[in-house]
Amino acid sequence: MRLVAGNWKMHGSRASIAALLDALVKENPPSCAVCVPFPYLAQVAERLRGSAVAWGAQNVSEHAQGAYTGEVSAAMLKEFGCRYVLVGHSERRQLYGETDAQVAAKFAAARSAGITPILCVGETLQEREAGRTGEVVGRQLGAVKFEGGVLAYEPVWAIGTGRNATPEQVQEVHAFLRQRVGPDALILYGGSVKPQNAPAIFAMPDVDGGLIGGASLVAKDFLDIVKAAAK
Ligand code: PEP
Repeated sequence: MRLVAGNWKMHGSRASIAALLDALVKENPPSCAVCVPFPYLAQVAERLRGSAVAWGAQNVSEHAQGAYTGEVSAAMLKEFGCRYVLVGHSERRQLYGETDAQVAAKFAAARSAGITPILCVGETLQEREAGRTGEVVGRQLGAVKFEGGVLAYEPVWAIGTGRNATPEQVQEVHAFLRQRVGPDALILYGGSVKPQNAPAIFAMPDVDGGLIGGASLVAKDFLDIVKAAAK
């Protein structure tokens, strides 16, 4: 099985999302999902009901409930039918100071609500150039009790920059991660995946699909990437 998940980040409006969902439902490709901003959960759940396209959230609280203003629990997401949730995205780690321990707690919270967490790991350019890629992604993964999740390798220097890792660079890290998570876990690559570069990346033996930011907002591009993963 493969999976291509779109991360819409903080983009969209009811109207633009309606148009994007219409295009996805029309094509109805299997093995794909979209991770959407919280206010649109109900709209997305309703529109995708009965379709092959799954959906997820981009964040979840590590707490079950309580006085946590602005947070959303895994049980709340589950009530809407949420299937996936991103945890440990580099933007959450870098911009909101999420620690490995918090990411581990979010992963566990999602699992206990029956939601599949997509754990994101990845090194910065400085860490790569210092030869620390394995150490960093190994630490980020090792902090989490990884059972029942999807893993996404997303080098920070390739996210939203138009600078994607070469297929060989991707495979090298995926092979390293594969040793830790075993043959059955899905390992996605994310970082400036586009219809043009997707086929070569998805051809690598330890790449099981992609996590797609910018290109997931353009229906044709996202659908082309999903098709490339199916080949
Ligand atoms: C992401 O946000 O997870 C991502 C991979 O973004 P982009 O595809 O835009 O680099």
